[in-house]
Amino acid sequence: MATSPYVVALTGGIGSGKSTIAIEFAAHGIECIDADEIARRQSAKGGAALPGLIAAFGSGILDASGGLDRAAMRKLAFADDAARRRLEAVLHPLIGIETEAAIARARSPYVLWVVPLLFEARSGGKPRYDRALVVDCDEETQIARVMKRSALSRDEVLAIMAHQVTRKERLALADEVIVNDGDLEALKAAVTRLHEKFIALAIDKSNERL
Ligand code: ADP
Repeated sequence: MATSPYVVALTGGIGSGKSTIAIEFAAHGIECIDADEIARRQSAKGGAALPGLIAAFGSGILDASGGLDRAAMRKLAFADDAARRRLEAVLHPLIGIETEAAIARARSPYVLWVVPLLFEARSGGKPRYDRALVVDCDEETQIARVMKRSALSRDEVLAIMAHQVTRKERLALADEVIVNDGDLEALKAAVTRLHEKFIALAIDKSNERL
């Protein structure tokens, strides 16, 4: 019988370094499942969530490509809590199903599930995980990184951060923390240490099942 793999959920605020860290785990041969990427695919043209999104919001939320106009949807969800809940009610169960399937298919010693809103989203369908890995850095660093990589203003970055749990809340829910306020070499070393730990934990868990 197939057993479910050991799952590490990687979370952190915008610009904290999740994608950068995922690349490092992937370099160790670890399969990474990206919640945002699944959401993007499901809300693109032909995606599984599109009929539900059109039923909930009307075809006015589509862009010229026939997929979800993500910028318009983001604006609406930010301004209107009920709209955000409707969006989550459509998307989260479908994301959950696809994530579970990707986890079940994974063949690496453990799986890294990259999930920005692990502690924020409350609607159902969230896969279980064994360990929450939080990436932490100070807020000014976060803001500077996001402004550098995108066209967002400082106020826009702050507005996104206001919809995410605080640094303190996130750290309180962490099983492991990577502090990403140094250079990339320091980050790589932290990932290597954690990778070895997760391998050991995954082996322990599979031995417990025997
Ligand atoms: P997230 O996925 O959490 O939003 P990213 O991994 O995309 O964050 O990182 C945000 C930006 O900061 C990216 O442009 C990335 O290259 C850069 N970055 C992340 N960590 C570091 C670091 N330790 N040193 C320098 N730049 C970094």
